[in-house]
Amino acid sequence: MKEKDQLLKKIVKELVSEEAIPIIEYLKGKSKISEFVISEELELEIHKTRFLLYKLLDHNIVSFIRKKDKIKGWYICYWDLNEEIINHLDQKMNDDKLDKLKERLKREEDNQFYMCKNACTRMDFDRAMEFNYKCPECGELMHIQDNSRTIEFLKDRINELEKDNTKKKLK
Ligand SMILES: [Zn+2]
Repeated sequence: MKEKDQLLKKIVKELVSEEAIPIIEYLKGKSKISEFVISEELELEIHKTRFLLYKLLDHNIVSFIRKKDKIKGWYICYWDLNEEIINHLDQKMNDDKLDKLKERLKREEDNQFYMCKNACTRMDFDRAMEFNYKCPECGELMHIQDNSRTIEFLKDRINELEKDNTKKKLK
């Protein structure tokens, strides 16, 4: 359970913003809470509360129903936390990360990189040729950089994430 809480916080922080964490913590275990109540309980301005709720809604982390207030005659939104979405979002975030790492790995494997000895710039072969192998920042000659350690690092990260993913899919 605690693990799931941490995961939820991590996801909200990455996808929405840290400011939205109190909202999801408040909604946990509750059902159909009016946005005015959320705003009041969290001492958060109503516009800000709505703004964050709609951002959470973009990722299906929350859902709402609109009901007409019988006395006041206007519509009020009542919000729920969608806890089932957590694992799904976590999976998706991992998959996105994996895709990016694989792209990066391919780029590292397919290219030669040139680096200034003063570490101002690092660029691939085509760009380095455009600059006559001279650093555009300081004018030093650039050298081919051995990127085997970067490649190793990326492969390790990919392995880790893939193992993590299989574990999660088995759960
Ligand atoms: Zn330089």
